[in-house]
Amino acid sequence: MKILVLNCGSSSLKYQLIDMSNEEVLCIGLVERIGIDGSILKQEKDGVEGKLVVEQPMKNHEDAIKLVLEGVKDSVYGGVKEMSEIDAVGHRVVHGGEKFAGSVIITDEVEAALRECIELAPLHNPANIMGIDACKAILPGVPMVGVFDTAFHQTMPASSYLYGLPHELYTKYGVRRYGFHGTSHYYVSQRAAAMLGKNIEDVKIITCHLGNGASIAAVDGGKCVDTSMGFTPLEGLIMGTRCGDIDAAILPFLMEKEGLDAKGLSDLMNKQSGVYGMTGISSDFRDIEGAAAKGDEKAQIALDAYAKKVKKYIGSYAAEMNGVDAVVFTAGVGENGIDMRAQIASNMEFLGMKLDAEANKVRGKERVISTEDSKVKILLIPTNEELVIARDTLKLVQK
Ligand code: AMP
Repeated sequence: MKILVLNCGSSSLKYQLIDMSNEEVLCIGLVERIGIDGSILKQEKDGVEGKLVVEQPMKNHEDAIKLVLEGVKDSVYGGVKEMSEIDAVGHRVVHGGEKFAGSVIITDEVEAALRECIELAPLHNPANIMGIDACKAILPGVPMVGVFDTAFHQTMPASSYLYGLPHELYTKYGVRRYGFHGTSHYYVSQRAAAMLGKNIEDVKIITCHLGNGASIAAVDGGKCVDTSMGFTPLEGLIMGTRCGDIDAAILPFLMEKEGLDAKGLSDLMNKQSGVYGMTGISSDFRDIEGAAAKGDEKAQIALDAYAKKVKKYIGSYAAEMNGVDAVVFTAGVGENGIDMRAQIASNMEFLGMKLDAEANKVRGKERVISTEDSKVKILLIPTNEELVIARDTLKLVQK
C-alpha cells in the first residue's frame, strides 16, 4: 500500500510518498509560497541525484496538490506510475481540540468538527482543511485520515491541562492546555522505550522537541501526563520567534504603553520574540551560536536563557513523575545542536543525567549520548512524524 502524507501550512506544503510494505520513502517534497509570487515545488528521491524543481504560479492548495500529484508520478524523482497507485492520504492536522484523542478517517462529520476547531488554531487548521478539500476534489474516493498534533496530549489529567483561571472559561470557550507536536513526542517516546529495551508501560520519559517551535512532554508509561505548549503553541519554552512563558500581566501593560491591539500583541509574541527578538539577529540557532562565538552578548544570553528554560522543564517533569528513566532530544536544535544539548545536560548530575561529551558529537542519528553509568539515559532520536501519520493511516484504512 502506498500512502501520501501531507502537512499543509498556510503557504507551504510538505509531503512524502511512503511504500508501507517496507516503510520506504519513495519521494519527499516541499512546496513553498502557495498563493504568493514565486510558488515553487522541490522534490527529491533517495539515491537519485538532483531535484525535481517546478516553478509556476499556485494560487491555492488545490493548485499545489495537483502539482504534487504530478511530481509523485515523475519518471525520475517520483514513486508511482499512476495516481491510482496512491491508496490513501494521511493529513497532519494541528488542532483537534478535545474532540480527537486519536487519528480518524476523514468524513463530512469529521471535517465539520475540524472547522469548529478553527477558532482554536486560526493560523494552522484552515490550511489543513484546504489540503483535505483539495485532495477530496482531485483524488475522489481515496480514503483520507487526519492525524492530530494535539491527540497524544489528550491523556493529560485535568490538573495538568487546566489553567488557574475561572472554570467557566474552560467550559464556555475551551480555554485549557492542549499541547502540540504530539505525533513527534509519541514517536520518540516509543523509540526511547525500544532503545532502553523496556516496555513503554514501565518507563518515564521526558521528550524535548526542540525545533523552530519547541515543546517538552512528560510521558509516563507511554501516556502524556504534561506538556509545555498550551492553549496555543505559544506557551512554554523560548522558541525561534515565540516568547514562551511570560508574565501575562505584561500584555495589558504593553497594550497601554505601545498602543497594541490583540493582533499586534499576538504578532509580537509569536513572530517577533524568542531568540530572534532577544538578539535581533535571527531565529536560527546556528546564527545565534555563531554570533555568541564572536562575542555578541545578547546572543549568549539568549542561548543561556533557552537552555535554562529547558532544564527547568526537565527538572519539573522529573518531579511531577517522581523520577525519569530517559531524556530525549529531537527536532532541528535537539538533533543537530551539539553545544545546546551539552549546555542543557550540564550540571544535571543531581538528577542522574551524565552526558558523554564524545558520544554527543553527532547530528541527526539515533544514539545514546549519556555515559555508561548515567542513571538517566540521554537519547538523541530523530523524529519521524510522517511515518507515524502513514502508520496510523494504514491502520485505519485497513480496518
Ligand atoms: P525544525 O523546526 O525542527 O525544522 O528545526 C529548525 C531549527 O533547527 C533551525 O531554525 C535551527 O535553529 C535549528 N538547527 C538546524 N541545524 C542546526 C545545527 N546544526 N545547529 C544548531 N541548530 C540547528
